[in-house]
Amino acid sequence: MSAQRVLLHVCCAPDATVPWADLPGEGFEVVPYWYGSNIHPAEEEKRRREALGALSLRMGRDVLWDEYMPGAWLKAVSHLADEPEGGERCSLCFRLQLEAAARRASAMEIPLLCTTLTISPHKNAELINALGAECASKYGVAWLVRVFRKKNGFVRSVTLSKEYGLYRQLYCGCLYSMTRGGNDHGTTARGEASPVAP
Ligand code: SF4
Repeated sequence: MSAQRVLLHVCCAPDATVPWADLPGEGFEVVPYWYGSNIHPAEEEKRRREALGALSLRMGRDVLWDEYMPGAWLKAVSHLADEPEGGERCSLCFRLQLEAAARRASAMEIPLLCTTLTISPHKNAELINALGAECASKYGVAWLVRVFRKKNGFVRSVTLSKEYGLYRQLYCGCLYSMTRGGNDHGTTARGEASPVAP
């Protein structure tokens, strides 16, 4: 039986290490997808894109790259500028990313959609899975429910990222998370792994 294709929305290369390694073991063919428009500034987006490119070379599979359109992302979320990390702006940000991924999956007739976002111990996996299912359904694809931080997923991703020499960022990604020193990315200020939440 041939593997079922799944479009894997990748939030960053370190977070993709474990999902990309594990899903084929479950019988899935991973098609990685990069959104990126939430990342600020452009140099940072380029750095993260290059890290994913390096992972893609290692995994022997090309990435579906989306166009970098930070202005459109900022315009969509600017009314939520004062929200704290983990608040309404982040919910909308997840939705924008997952909706773009669902649109791409549908256009490419990839029947399944999933995301690496649930590997972070600091992100709401239940919310992410609910939003993912909503976006997938809107575009006629199925959502693959996963919480990748389970079974030591986050710690494994830190170990693999170090082994592969992948760039690991110090803030979640957007202008707001950068300027407020926010860090929901599972790293300490020096980029070391934080304790994993239950
Ligand atoms: S902190 Fe992260 S999840 Fe929240 S809006 Fe910024 S980039 Fe998106």
